[in-house]
Amino acid sequence: MIRFEGVSKSFGGARAVDDVTLDVARGSLCALVGTSGSGKSTLLRLANRLLEADEGKIRFDGADVTNIPPVELRRRMGYVIQSVGLFPHWTVERNVATVPRLLGWSPARIGERVAELLDLVGLPPGLHARRYPDELSGGQQQRVGVARALAGEPELLLMDEPFGAVDPPTRRGLQDSLMAIQKRTGTTILLVTHDVEEAIRLSGTLAVLDQGRLLQTGTPAQVLTQPATEAVARFFGGPLLGLNRLKALRVGDRARFAAASPDGGDPIDTDATLEAALARMVAEGRSFLPVRRLADGARGILDLADLVRP
Ligand code: ADP
Ligand code: MG
Repeated sequence: MIRFEGVSKSFGGARAVDDVTLDVARGSLCALVGTSGSGKSTLLRLANRLLEADEGKIRFDGADVTNIPPVELRRRMGYVIQSVGLFPHWTVERNVATVPRLLGWSPARIGERVAELLDLVGLPPGLHARRYPDELSGGQQQRVGVARALAGEPELLLMDEPFGAVDPPTRRGLQDSLMAIQKRTGTTILLVTHDVEEAIRLSGTLAVLDQGRLLQTGTPAQVLTQPATEAVARFFGGPLLGLNRLKALRVGDRARFAAASPDGGDPIDTDATLEAALARMVAEGRSFLPVRRLADGARGILDLADLVRP
């Protein structure tokens, strides 16, 4: 869907993005991670041409972005940033309708789309459509920002630390909504975050940047099991990397089904994380859990020792 080919960008002689090649597949969610200053935001701004690359090419659905007028490009790519940037003197409804109005949609179509999106992001339109941004909590404003970015039915959603400014429980709610939205709409998402847990939880693919260079791409399980460099291992927790690995692996990756299933307690499903399994073992004071395989209902076992074997 979007492909960076040997892309570089410097500011005053310092390379912010350094020879990055990255392919984000259609319908996937790619989390771009790295410490502050590693070039994440710069890479996003190159995608929608808020910045122009010094070297390399960026292809959007096969076409070189420099051949696509910025206005058209930004209509086809939603952009969500941390400081939402809602228009304060416009209602929620009007904010969400920004792009459809620019596109000249009929009022009826706009009304339908706005209502559908507010429902999708968990803000029932009957309660929220006529409110102004300063009548909403930070998390609600962020939801409006996501609805607005999706309004023009973009092919790609660029998100720059969209949930960075909200408290952890609210953030989890927003993450759940985003996962549900992506499942429903199939929108390709390139998400910048420096939150390790968020990246592991949301992404199909992780792309790790450090000082402008792409150090590694892969699934969360691949990256956390085999970090390519010391810097990748450090980013994902250094001495606590092993604990974060439990967030990236599922019960189904380690459970055994040949053994007879033990009695006792509710079985844990194969799609639960190993972290959730460990938490249950600790809370329940035992060293194994019965497992239910989601695919066919088969029963198995997960032992504490299964968490540490390679
Ligand atoms: P991140 O989003 O990963 O924190 P950025 O992409 O914002 O990192 O920044 C990467 C590097 O580029 C930093 O060293 C930053 O200071 C520099 N930089 C970013 N934008 C500009 C700009 N407009 N002018 C000068 N330097 C910039
Ligand atoms: Mg940034």
